[in-house]
Amino acid sequence: MGTNLKFKKRKSQLKSINRVLLKHFLLLSVLLICLLEVICFLIVNNTAKSTAKERLIRVGREAAELVDDEAEATEFIRNYRQDGIIVYVLSQSGEVLLPSDETVWNGDMREIIEKLDKEDKESAQVIYSQDNALNYAMRLDYGGGSYLVATYSLGIINGASRLLLVYFVIVGVTVLLLTAMVAYNVSQKLSSGLKNLSTTAVRFSEGDFAVNFANAEYQELADLSDTLNSVRDEVKKSGDFQRELIANVSHDLKTPLTMIKAYASMIREISGDNPEKRDKHLQVIIDEADRLTGIVNDVLNVSKLSSNLDGIKFKVFNLTEFLYGMLNKFDYLQETQGYTFLVDVDANLYTRADEEKIGQVIYNLLSNAVNYTGEDKTVYISLKRNMTAERIKLTVRDTGKGISKEDLPEIWNRYYRIKENHARPVKGTGLGLNIVKIILENHSFDFGVESELGKGSSFWIDFPAVPEKEEND
Ligand code: ADP
Repeated sequence: MGTNLKFKKRKSQLKSINRVLLKHFLLLSVLLICLLEVICFLIVNNTAKSTAKERLIRVGREAAELVDDEAEATEFIRNYRQDGIIVYVLSQSGEVLLPSDETVWNGDMREIIEKLDKEDKESAQVIYSQDNALNYAMRLDYGGGSYLVATYSLGIINGASRLLLVYFVIVGVTVLLLTAMVAYNVSQKLSSGLKNLSTTAVRFSEGDFAVNFANAEYQELADLSDTLNSVRDEVKKSGDFQRELIANVSHDLKTPLTMIKAYASMIREISGDNPEKRDKHLQVIIDEADRLTGIVNDVLNVSKLSSNLDGIKFKVFNLTEFLYGMLNKFDYLQETQGYTFLVDVDANLYTRADEEKIGQVIYNLLSNAVNYTGEDKTVYISLKRNMTAERIKLTVRDTGKGISKEDLPEIWNRYYRIKENHARPVKGTGLGLNIVKIILENHSFDFGVESELGKGSSFWIDFPAVPEKEEND
């Protein structure tokens, strides 16, 4: 409850992807639009002004060249009035000399003379802005010393710039609206994909293993879906394994426990005083206790191997000697129960593997051969190097009933048992071959079985052969 509250509190402090995306998208768009528009505006405005300046100077100079021909100069000046360029030729006192049909000029002559004086006297010309207009003035020799003044009103450019600004605002707002729509759409799609996955995950967490995480719209979400699907499969597998384990183990434990209890009661009530009977009954109890130990060990091994708790510890060892050591453990069967182990083994074959785990594998194969071999109670074991001395093949063969084609692929699975009575010395749990399979797969060793009904089965493992000198690596 406490953690739930904390979780809820933390959740309420989190930001929604939708809002964050929208906010950042809009912020970025506003910034970009403003930046672009300011740059555009400055470029347009400056270009317009510098073009106007160049034109003003050009018209002024052309007019200055025409002043000697009054009529032509007047016409020239008149023509440019329509374009907004106003040219006057003035005397030192400000009287209008040209155009010849005008008499009044409303400017300040002193100011122009001052501006020209401030400039480099040699150039005798000046360009300056004043009263929202661009002005060009130059000294002339005409009329014994006069001035040409050309003016261009910046009002036209400023008006055009204002219009441009209005356009920019309209375009900006439109782009912003479009961006907002796109951002909203994208964020909506993205978050709806995530919401779907999250809803599916909630169903999954409630134990529905039939859920399917799916998102084909975006690569990253599709990858996440795939990962979640494999998590689902793993969780399901491990859940199945646990259920299967509990069901099988409790079933397997029940029989020996019942037997132990029954024989213990029998000793107490019937055979306690009869040493012969008592010993027989005690032997059953010991056998069943061994069986219990076997079951518990197998279960522990399978769960340890399945959860990969201890990895494979590779080392080089003498496989021939190791196999002989394993066979010694079965000596009591030869001595007391008439089993024959026919062994054909090459001397001093070395391999690189996890010795302890390979011991488990060989023990399981030998136990099965003993359990399932035929009436002759014979088991054939061979360990042979191949022609190129690169591989070693271990074969454990029995003469039993064999395994049918349908059962062959299944025997490696957990708890798979072919319906059969095996009242034999080494009792199975249905986990033996599964342990063999997991260990050999973890080693990446090839292994398999050939079997024919009525003739027997032959289990084999392919080991890598390594030189003896690597033994202490
Ligand atoms: P179990 O503990 O029952 O022997 P295993 O996993 O070792 O379990 O083997 C699975 C099943 O495969 C056995 O129950 C048996 O039916 C079959 N099997 C294994 N080895 C042999 C064999 N050598 N000959 C015939 N059947 C076999």
